[in-house]
Amino acid sequence: IIKNAKKNIMKILAITNQKGGVGKTTTCVNLAASLASLGKRVLLIDLDPQGNASTGSGIDKAHLKLSIYHVLIGEKTLKEVVVSSEKGGFDIAPSNRELAGAEVELVNELARETRLKTAIGKLSDDYDVVLLDCPPALNLVTVNALTAANAVMIPMQCEYYALEGLSDLVNTIKKVRAHLNPTLEIEGLLRTLFDNRNMLAQQVSAQLISHFGDKVYKTVIPRNIRLAEAPSYGVPVLSYDKSSKGAVAYMELAQEITNREITNRV
Ligand code: ADP
Ligand code: MG
Repeated sequence: IIKNAKKNIMKILAITNQKGGVGKTTTCVNLAASLASLGKRVLLIDLDPQGNASTGSGIDKAHLKLSIYHVLIGEKTLKEVVVSSEKGGFDIAPSNRELAGAEVELVNELARETRLKTAIGKLSDDYDVVLLDCPPALNLVTVNALTAANAVMIPMQCEYYALEGLSDLVNTIKKVRAHLNPTLEIEGLLRTLFDNRNMLAQQVSAQLISHFGDKVYKTVIPRNIRLAEAPSYGVPVLSYDKSSKGAVAYMELAQEITNREITNRV
């Protein structure tokens, strides 16, 4: 009975790094599709006003009537804004430019940091995994994501400045843990846009492992042109070229995450 009870805990994973262009959105969309292909019920929540996760999931963000913005300002429930990414096999709460206004509108509102947490809490047993695609900033929307999450994934490019921003992010996570979400954990650091022939990338990667040990996912996401092309067709790479290195890597990541869950549960 206890086993079953635990099984139903929804995994809420914030995919975050205040740097832009490190592969957050690419990871969200492709991990969502890969987890779905393993039979998981997945909800992706697009928290970036750029709406790239929405576009990449085949949603026309310019013509949205409802988006995550309406959830954060308290006008709609998540269920009311969720649509299906048909090619992706998962559900998505989409976003567009309107979300940029939420930051200002929420400043004087009550419970402004816990809006997303409350909204996700109202989803009953509809999903196994919720992925939160964070904006490239340590702003109120990101704090909402960290407050709602039970785990954090940090995608990073193995380049010279990669470690610099990391301490700001880790400090933000510590603050959220102290004040808003005591059980928040960094689940893992994901090496993205990886080029194995690049000596610097190898050095930074080794450095990451020596600092963070097991927190670094074994799976490495290579730089792969298919991953960059798929969003222009509004599909995850799995539906675009499933034998590409990028598709294989994200399947591996989905498997690694699923296996970790099983090991942690035992
Ligand atoms: P973020 O969400 O962190 O800003 P994105 O996922 O949007 O980053 O990625 C930034 C750019 O790099 C996008 O154009 C994306 O298509 C491309 N990209 C991301 N990951 C890869 C990869 N592994 N290989 C090739 N291109 C990638
Ligand atoms: Mg993004």
